[in-house]
Amino acid sequence: MWRKTMKEKLKAIMDAALKQIEEAADSETLNDARVSFLGKKGELTQVLKSLKDVAPEDRPKVGQLVNEAREILEKKLEERKREFEKKMLDLKLATETIDVTLPAKKPMIGHRHPNTIALDEVKKIFIGMGYQVVDGPEIEYDYYNFEALNIPANHPAKDEQDTFYINDKLLLRTQTSSVQVHVMEKQKPPIRIIAPGRVFRSDEVDATHSPSFHQVEGLVIDKNVTFADLKGTLAEFARRIFGEDTKVKFRPHHFPFTEPSAEMDVSCFKCGGKGCRFCKNEGWIEILGCGMVHPHVLEMRGIDPKEYQGFAFGMGLERIALLKYEVDDMRLLYENDVRFLRQF
Ligand SMILES: [Zn+2]
Repeated sequence: MWRKTMKEKLKAIMDAALKQIEEAADSETLNDARVSFLGKKGELTQVLKSLKDVAPEDRPKVGQLVNEAREILEKKLEERKREFEKKMLDLKLATETIDVTLPAKKPMIGHRHPNTIALDEVKKIFIGMGYQVVDGPEIEYDYYNFEALNIPANHPAKDEQDTFYINDKLLLRTQTSSVQVHVMEKQKPPIRIIAPGRVFRSDEVDATHSPSFHQVEGLVIDKNVTFADLKGTLAEFARRIFGEDTKVKFRPHHFPFTEPSAEMDVSCFKCGGKGCRFCKNEGWIEILGCGMVHPHVLEMRGIDPKEYQGFAFGMGLERIALLKYEVDDMRLLYENDVRFLRQF
């Protein structure tokens, strides 16, 4: 008798539960149905709790019935839950369509500074001619920056490039020529190097001056090196960096550490030498200083000038970059304005 009542009671609960699950319109009402039948105080849970009042011999059978009922409800709840999830996903896919024709968001990628581009090109040319690229200290002894380069304490050349002194003996180097001395100290000829790097002068900032800029120094020491080697090397460099038709011209000049010394001009690559605004109607543009290494500079390093000769050259890297990219204000290279830098 009891069993029958229990069965009927269970059936009534199941009918109501299945109806409510079936009619649930969304996951929220579905959850309400779950709570009201399977929750802590749910109807089916209550039945399970009342098992203690059932006669011991009937308990297993009733327990089994209740568990079967719970399994059916759980399965049905899961089915409907999946149904709602699929509906949500379909809706999401329908509303969040992707327009594949829209341009993608490109990540911002930086690139080399025009100075670096110019330097890489200079390096490439000289490495191709068998030169080594060497580095030297930016904080330098007065000795390496001046004296060892044939510029004694009272030499007028020292005034021209008065620099930032750290103390009586240390300064920020005014020229990469100091690297020549370090190389000659460490290395026996043959020597064939370029030394790019930052140099400092106590100059005011304007369109062509800066207290900090870059030079590329070159040094060759070997047997039977003549001024013809210097000319050939630098003419080839000029052609590679400014174009095949570039001509070069050497004007006598004075540098304390070379003898004879010269300044090298290249034919204006804008007008081909006819004269234009770019070359200030000269047809020529000054590029670098050069000369045969002064015998005294070699002697100071213990190199016999009768056995070995050499040539050296030095150029301003910014000047090369400005000319190459036809920029007329050096300050643009340092201001780091991305609108300017993006153009390279
Ligand atoms: Zn010109």
